[in-house]
Amino acid sequence: MAGASRYCVAEHTGGDRSSRERSKPRNTGVLVAARGVAPRPRRHFVPWRAWPLGRRRREGVRWADGLQGHTTLAVIEVNLDAADTAQATSAIQFTGVSKRYGSQLALCPIDLEIRDGEFFCLLGPSGCGKSTTLSLIGGFAAPSSGEVRIRGELVNQTPPHRRKVNTVFQSYALFPHMSVSGNVAFGLRMAKVPRGESETRVAEALRMVALDSYADRYPGQLSGGQQQRVAVARALVNRPAVLLLDEPLGALDLQLRKRLQVELSQIQRELGTTFVFVTHDQGEAMTMADRIAVMNEGRIEQIGTPEEIYRRPTSRFVAEFIGESNFAEVELVNGDVVTVRDRIPLAAPRQADLERGESGTVTLMVRPESVRLTPASEGDPGLVGTVIKLSFLGSVTRASVRCPAVDEAFIVDAPSGFGQGIRENSLVQLQWDVKDTVLLDGPAG
Ligand code: ADP
Repeated sequence: MAGASRYCVAEHTGGDRSSRERSKPRNTGVLVAARGVAPRPRRHFVPWRAWPLGRRRREGVRWADGLQGHTTLAVIEVNLDAADTAQATSAIQFTGVSKRYGSQLALCPIDLEIRDGEFFCLLGPSGCGKSTTLSLIGGFAAPSSGEVRIRGELVNQTPPHRRKVNTVFQSYALFPHMSVSGNVAFGLRMAKVPRGESETRVAEALRMVALDSYADRYPGQLSGGQQQRVAVARALVNRPAVLLLDEPLGALDLQLRKRLQVELSQIQRELGTTFVFVTHDQGEAMTMADRIAVMNEGRIEQIGTPEEIYRRPTSRFVAEFIGESNFAEVELVNGDVVTVRDRIPLAAPRQADLERGESGTVTLMVRPESVRLTPASEGDPGLVGTVIKLSFLGSVTRASVRCPAVDEAFIVDAPSGFGQGIRENSLVQLQWDVKDTVLLDGPAG
């Protein structure tokens, strides 16, 4: 499970082992390599070992076995989120990478870092450059500019089969005349892996995808979801550092897709292998990803955790692509945020917090579930509107509210059974907390 390892390797010299242990070389160790990459073999450094760490921040020191001479190899567990280890902990790093097909720019120059051991989703509408990005990692396409690194190693010139990555495609293309275990073992056979080792690895891979009892079946005897899990096992059996998944659930029906989303996340967490998953389905990305890159027209609009992207979108495109949003065109006047029409003050981040200019039209965004409705009367202060539609959606009831001060109807999701007395055509006041709002550049719509 080398792919799961999160460690730094440090060199520490001098003293006997016991004094070294007492001295705790946390502060004196010299970082020589990090992030799942073996240090360059040096005389003193063999044999070396590293210990996989969990996903959480931890610090501490453990000693390597079998060390020679006066140089000690220690494995220092560190906070891998720390900026100074960011470079070393990258599974994938793009620096100024672009891709052009003839005259068409499929990918603008992008910088991208995918951390070792994370479940990373490339999300965006069709044609935004997701598969191109995946192809550049897998080596199926060559970058037009920039550098692609896998675990720190420049791979621009490295052919696909020499990269430590494997890909699972939407069309899983199993060999119909081979059993499940035969399909999974195929790559190992081609690589001339000894039979005993191959059997062990196939059994391990099938266990990971919970298909160990299906080893002797043929693809035609499996459901679509099971076949896709065989395809995942076929890729995992090679123990890749990075698994690329190109819309692997796209051909499955909704129920099955939802189940496999959970199963794939569990497999990834168990293995700690870096997964790079392409999807155009925001729910799928939100369900599975540690971090998401939202792409649009060959650019990365935003990278963040599902929560960051949902709560703090940095562009209208992201706000609209992930979940639902209300937008209001507002201006900053004397430190207040007011609607452009009717100058109604709204709860929003203060101008000073935004480091913006003195004036200008921007867009306020607030999510439907963050808006509260209370009955109002004609002439009440604040944002007031008329309920034009109430829709029962199960756990929430959705109100569409037309406010004279805002162009688009506001969507409000409230727990069902809310607001006694609020009916269609009721006059209501809309309120929300500042923390639930974001100001986006440019006018609404
Ligand atoms: P996505 O995976 O997000 O749907 P792609 O990465 O497949 O998008 O494509 C990005 C853009 O590059 C699209 O406009 C697509 O038409 C174009 N493109 C992709 N592959 C090729 C190719 N082999 N030749 C020419 N254009 C391509």
